[in-house]
Amino acid sequence: MTRTAVLLFTRDLRVHDNPALAAAGRDADRVVPLYVDDPARAANPNQRQFLLESLDDLRESLRALGGGLVVRRGDTVAQVKDVLAATGADLVVCASDAGRFAEGMLAGLAAAAELQVVPGPAAVEPGRLLPSGGGDHYKVFTPYWRAWSQAPRRPIAPEPDRLDVPDLPGSHDLPPAEPTATCLPPGGERAALARLDAWAPGSGDYGERHDDLAGDRTSRLSPYLALGCLSARAAADDPRLPEAMVRQLCWRDFHLQVLAAFPALTDTPYRKGASDTWDADLTALEAWRTASTGVDIVDAGMRQLHAEGWMHNRARLITAGYLVKTLGLDWRDGAAHFAAHLVDLDEANNWGNWQWTAGTGNDTRPNRGFNHERQTARFDPEGAYRDRWSRA
Ligand SMILES: Cc1cc2nc3c(=O)[nH]c(=O)nc-3n(C[C@H](O)[C@H](O)[C@H](O)COP(=O)(O)OP(=O)(O)OC[C@H]3O[C@@H](n4cnc5c(N)ncnc54)[C@H](O)[C@@H]3O)c2cc1C
Repeated sequence: MTRTAVLLFTRDLRVHDNPALAAAGRDADRVVPLYVDDPARAANPNQRQFLLESLDDLRESLRALGGGLVVRRGDTVAQVKDVLAATGADLVVCASDAGRFAEGMLAGLAAAAELQVVPGPAAVEPGRLLPSGGGDHYKVFTPYWRAWSQAPRRPIAPEPDRLDVPDLPGSHDLPPAEPTATCLPPGGERAALARLDAWAPGSGDYGERHDDLAGDRTSRLSPYLALGCLSARAAADDPRLPEAMVRQLCWRDFHLQVLAAFPALTDTPYRKGASDTWDADLTALEAWRTASTGVDIVDAGMRQLHAEGWMHNRARLITAGYLVKTLGLDWRDGAAHFAAHLVDLDEANNWGNWQWTAGTGNDTRPNRGFNHERQTARFDPEGAYRDRWSRA
């Protein structure tokens, strides 16, 4: 009997090293590639623009394999059920993920059909590494990094030579994005691989220079990793990448395994007993949001966020540290503003890092001080970053 599977793309918008694509191609005779644009999944207009470009790129790649891409808008489970009925498929293949939305979606799919869940956005799946002292996840980064570096990784998923697709049901027209940033990177797997190829050869000084604000020496691969246009698992073993950068990929996995164990990360302090009382100064919050605090380094970071939908990691630390430690304002408000603009918005990374900065998260020194003048002197000594993002 011919078996048809729905291959549900989520945050794995690529054909290289895609475990869901490999599993569907292997376990079914015919495959229905599907993406559901679910309004319940958090995205902002900048990331949405990037998503639409990434879907176009994915559709082209799937066509080259003999397939195509059905795109639907609505509740994911309802849309998958509709596509199952329209195509006679009886299997859904989908990547794992963490967070409330992903958990709810996977549970709904499991109740609706036979579901095969394959490895998701991490290089090392959440839950694969467990601390020797007990517990369902690592709470501290350094021992996680040690275990992660030595852990065997899953094999790279082979790309099928060809996909057999049945008559595909119709797609929905997706509403266009109306990005707020004026300078966004191009979306899609091809752009991701081109960016990686362009950046990797000169990345030898990443370890020394990744905190240099004006130098802008980081990879800018985060938007591609957030939507899976680039495989973190493949990148983690890319011999061209310096260890210091691979360590950042490990931070990404670290936050994902925290989110998997603690899905309330977006609104509830992760650390038990953490102080979570904040001022309610709306004027100060608005000044921070609109890059008008009068603190040049903070305002420069916020202007970069608004213009590019992206901010240098050191500037994220400074702007976030200023909000929570200097102004004493709620990390949830800061995280929400970042979430409204970041083209690389990633639930685990955004809220995990905000909680880290606020001292409610995984920092082993939750009460560490923050001094924006010292940060400025250290990471933008000549003022080149502040000049680049000055009001003028
Ligand atoms: C308050 C705050 C909010 C953040 N929100 C996000 C977010 O929504 N999405 C996001 O991808 N990153 C977030 N980060 C992490 C980090 O700032 C970005 O990943 C990084 O700046 C992206 O630039 P890059 O790709 O050039 O990084 P590189 O330095 O080239 O690092 C390579 C990759 O490693 C990962 N990475 C790097 N730093 C971190 C980190 N601190 N935590 C987790 N993963 C990391 C990213 O996937 C990144 O693309 C946040 C950091 C802070 C302090």
